[in-house]
Amino acid sequence: MTATSKLLKTLILGAPASGKGTISSRIVKKYNVAHVSSGDKLRDHIEKQTDLGKEVKKYLNEGKLVPDNVMIKFMITELNKVENKPWLLDGFPRTVGQADALWKVQPVDIVVNLVVPFDVIIDRVKDRWVHLASGRVYNIGFNTPKVEGKDDVTGEDLVQRPDDKPEAVRKRLEIYDSITRPVIEFYKQKGILKEFEGRTSDEIWPKVTAYLDPFFKK
Ligand code: ATP
Ligand code: MG
Repeated sequence: MTATSKLLKTLILGAPASGKGTISSRIVKKYNVAHVSSGDKLRDHIEKQTDLGKEVKKYLNEGKLVPDNVMIKFMITELNKVENKPWLLDGFPRTVGQADALWKVQPVDIVVNLVVPFDVIIDRVKDRWVHLASGRVYNIGFNTPKVEGKDDVTGEDLVQRPDDKPEAVRKRLEIYDSITRPVIEFYKQKGILKEFEGRTSDEIWPKVTAYLDPFFKK
């Protein structure tokens, strides 16, 4: 293809703590795409105590979905801010309403769905720590931070997300099953969904690159 070929729009799907964050950051690094993560952006607003942050905090803490009207407006604005770069969307859409709205303004080209067994997910979340400012995620025993409780890059504190508490995780998995699964179906019907199975991100990653390489080499 020529230099005028269109910029690829990729979407990553997967249950909470399926490794979306980890696989996303590897995709971003390898293919030089812009990372647009709804969860990271919402947590950033909460941290900065913006009006949006105040409005959505309760939903995130309880592991519930932020209402569609709020999410659609917010994320479409965020996507429009990405200039002249391919992007990777992570965490949005999570409902068929969101998927429909997105399809009308920015139809995605590639959908990567991570398939990780639920027992693995529940186990993993207990040991998960995040650096809020960057969204970097650590898992004790898998990618343990060099210094306990500190981010490798900045040395700043790591925190556990309130929605990683067992109660909230159960809620998020329930929501995922009932509300987000139909989104997978939505993209399956468009013929652009590709599934990747595994118990760890290291197991899944080579399959993802084998699939994405040809798209980004064009
Ligand atoms: P992980 O990032 O580990 O895969 P996750 O996907 O549950 O876990 P995030 O994507 O970071 O977590 O989202 C965290 C929370 O932000 C959700 O539980 C929800 O409250 C809110 N949120 C994020 N994206 C959306 C969305 N598209 N629609 C509604 N709520 C959302
Ligand atoms: Mg996320």
